[in-house]
Amino acid sequence: MASIAPLKQVFSRSTGATARRGFATTTRLDASYGFIGLGQMGYPMASNLRSKISSSDKMYIHDVNPAVTEQFAKEIGNVEIAQSVRDVAEKSETILTVLPEPHHVQNVFQQMLRPDATLAEAPNNHERLFIDCSTIDPKSSAGVANAVHSSGQGRFVDAPMSGGVVGARAGTLTFMLGASEELVERTTEVLKMMGKRTIHLGPQTSGLKGKLANNYLLALNNIATAEAMNMGVKWGLDPKTLADMINTATGKCWPSEINNPVPGVSENAPAGRDYKGGFGTRLMLKDLKLALQAGAESNIVPHLGAHAQDIYSAVVVDPACKDRDFSVVYRYIGGKE
Ligand code: NAD
Repeated sequence: MASIAPLKQVFSRSTGATARRGFATTTRLDASYGFIGLGQMGYPMASNLRSKISSSDKMYIHDVNPAVTEQFAKEIGNVEIAQSVRDVAEKSETILTVLPEPHHVQNVFQQMLRPDATLAEAPNNHERLFIDCSTIDPKSSAGVANAVHSSGQGRFVDAPMSGGVVGARAGTLTFMLGASEELVERTTEVLKMMGKRTIHLGPQTSGLKGKLANNYLLALNNIATAEAMNMGVKWGLDPKTLADMINTATGKCWPSEINNPVPGVSENAPAGRDYKGGFGTRLMLKDLKLALQAGAESNIVPHLGAHAQDIYSAVVVDPACKDRDFSVVYRYIGGKE
């Protein structure tokens, strides 16, 4: 049998499947990937991953909704639908999870890790790597990481992302990575097949802490932008001229420039299509709550956060606003459309 280069070495010397196949002298076993959670984000991410890995590499997919895995197998192909998350874990060296909330992540990992004996050795004798891209709270994530590490069945990193569904489709996501130093390179090699940037913020949970701090700021900037635009428009200013001015001045932020809440101001922003698509109010509320919860666990009580939570909580149940992009806060406060 041909000698087998340890996958770690193969990963570290390559920039992806194409480069890997270019090593004439390196014999490699096919790699195996597992993907759990093929929703709005997971589906296009898994599709990008499948298109970038070698065609002989294996990919196992699982979702509680069988319709999406069947659709994926039909539309993208070259995957095996696993019957359970345990099945995914047994067959894969690298397992990605893209799940909605902390309890989904906890449940999936409980099922994957039990019983521990048969999972001990990953295919190719390669240490199993679990990459969780879900946005959850750092405490729950640390609990899952601890369960993985203490069971001796692999290593766990948190890699939440930003860029939304558009970035997931285009493969341009930014990942915020929380991982021990020795896992950064291996994890980055996987993530680069689904995104354009991975920022390592520190040890496990650091990616989530960075993500939640960012989304806390986003939640507030979005409300502040809606209020500032509402003021200017009600005072008789032209919204586009006002936004152009803000975007060359100190008030500039992502909601003012890219995702302006006033219809017609930012090209292609959800405001221009009745706030459809984009980043849903529910997800914004979820991330804000996670940030506040994680803050409280560290005795941090941000002054503006609680008020912002009240606003988003009202927006998600308002019939004119619910299930729309979070910039719909502008409509909620009575902005002129
Ligand atoms: P989603 O609800 O569209 O998809 C989640 C998928 O997980 C669904 O297909 C669901 O069936 C599946 N699932 C749930 N429980 C499962 C289980 N036990 N086993 C297997 N599959 C299970 O969510 P999404 O929008 O793809 O978001 C996923 C994560 O990414 C969330 O944590 C979210 O906060 C984060 N995120 C989302 C966006 C966005 O714009 N949608 C952007 C950045 C980060």
